[in-house]
Amino acid sequence: MKFIDKTRAQLMRELVETRQPPTNLDALKESEEKYRTLFQESRDAIFITTRDGELTDANQSYLDLFGYTREEVLGLDVRQTYANPDDRLRFQQEMEQKGAVRDFELKLQKKDGTELDCLLTATVRRSKDGDVLGYHGFIRNITERKQTEEALMESERRYRLLAENVTDIIWTIDMNLQFTYISPSVTHLGGYSVEEAMGKTLEEILTPASLEVATKAFAEDLAIANMGQKDLPGERLLELEQIRKDGSTRWTEVKTTFLRDPDGRPVGILGVTRDITDRKYEDEKLQKLYQVEKEAHEELEREKEQRLQFINALAHELKTPLTSIVASGGLLLEEMEKESQSPRVRLVENIIRSTNKLEDRLSELLDIARIGTLGFKLTFELLDMRPLLQNMVTELLPVANEKRQSLTLDIPPSIPIVKADRQRLEQVLLNLLTNAIKFTGEDGKMQVRLTKKDADLIVEVKDDGPGITEEEQARIFQPYYRVEADRQRFTGLGLGLAVSKQLVELHGGRMWVESELGKGSTFAFSLPIAEQEEESATNP
Ligand code: ADP
Repeated sequence: MKFIDKTRAQLMRELVETRQPPTNLDALKESEEKYRTLFQESRDAIFITTRDGELTDANQSYLDLFGYTREEVLGLDVRQTYANPDDRLRFQQEMEQKGAVRDFELKLQKKDGTELDCLLTATVRRSKDGDVLGYHGFIRNITERKQTEEALMESERRYRLLAENVTDIIWTIDMNLQFTYISPSVTHLGGYSVEEAMGKTLEEILTPASLEVATKAFAEDLAIANMGQKDLPGERLLELEQIRKDGSTRWTEVKTTFLRDPDGRPVGILGVTRDITDRKYEDEKLQKLYQVEKEAHEELEREKEQRLQFINALAHELKTPLTSIVASGGLLLEEMEKESQSPRVRLVENIIRSTNKLEDRLSELLDIARIGTLGFKLTFELLDMRPLLQNMVTELLPVANEKRQSLTLDIPPSIPIVKADRQRLEQVLLNLLTNAIKFTGEDGKMQVRLTKKDADLIVEVKDDGPGITEEEQARIFQPYYRVEADRQRFTGLGLGLAVSKQLVELHGGRMWVESELGKGSTFAFSLPIAEQEEESATNP
């Protein structure tokens, strides 16, 4: 220190000559104290070394940063605290050239070996003659800042890599709708370079219709955002048609979200644009196909409806005169029987029989045309099968007897009730029984059996007639199908079994046949037992 080097006599002389008040020394002391306090309290680590790097003084922050006690730190060779020999070389070079370093970035080592990223600012201390006495300076620990910076850089690198490599276009625009970023994939979709695209306005890259959609959506979202609500509108999905550099257009799906400042105010929009042209055309193609299909279906439904109306009209036209013929025939027969003119009676009987047959065939035709249409309805009731079967057999016995055939009935003592359309069930039974009588030769044996199996009642009509081959069995339930050998010998349309099977199925049951050529056939069908009535069995 300058003043301390002076002799007392010199000091006195100066004092007298300059007439300075004796307070100069106090001021010096005061100043010295001020700087010492600053030195001690500084958050930066401050150090003073000899020219060989031996530490002569360090503040508390220095001790805290490097983990030394005051005793340990005095005399410490600071060159040992360099983690990288390269840093040391650079430091020395810079010091020699400039006599100082400022914000010199380097890695230093704590006492325990931990490395720290630091900023060093130091100055050389020289004697009056210019000899290097040592260095002093301060160190700032930037390890944490550096780590955050690196993490940020890494994350930025990752996102940039992602944005630059996806086929979707990632872009941002400011609130004036000017692009602030566009990823390179814009070249593929729009044909523009990134620079060209950045200079485009929305008017230039969207078709007028799509521009309207986009600006409307933006205005809506902005209005909500400006209403001061904390929640900004979320993600938006728009389908926009974009104009390429060559003038052609592509359909894109654009997802947008607002970019916000820390206070949540919108500062721009982040968007991801995806080319959906191919998908769009596929969708349109599918849509068209669907439309064609729909129209064809509607046309078919119309035709079905027309056919049904025609059938109903036909039924009415044919049945009315037929009913009248049957009724008149019946009356005429009654009158004639009174007069007992037998040959004429037989003629009238013939007319009535033929008319009845005509009526039956007509009914079959109408049934097969109507079943499965909305116009066809069943009228269900709870039915006891016993009397129904008994009546049926009693009615047909005379017909069977004409061929000297036997017809028996086998019903167990207790049978459950079914839910069925009486008339239709009679129609099914009549069909099976008349078939059996028709196709079984003279002296044949037929039996009707009723059994219960699980949740069903099973009705079987068994005959010992000609039987049916397996191949024919598979086809006799198809409409209009008749066994080859029977076509010449018997009349019929081949509709009875088809109608019967469909009627049974409409009751929730099944119909099938078991047969062996030359041994007879058993036609059977099932009917689900009515749920609650299962208990109320009937006894004769
Ligand atoms: P249709 O009796 O009017 O010919 P169906 O549909 O009732 O029509 O019968 C179809 C065919 O099945 C008959 O033509 C006949 O060849 C055969 N078939 C039906 N029932 C029997 C039976 N019990 N025995 C032998 N063949 C039968």
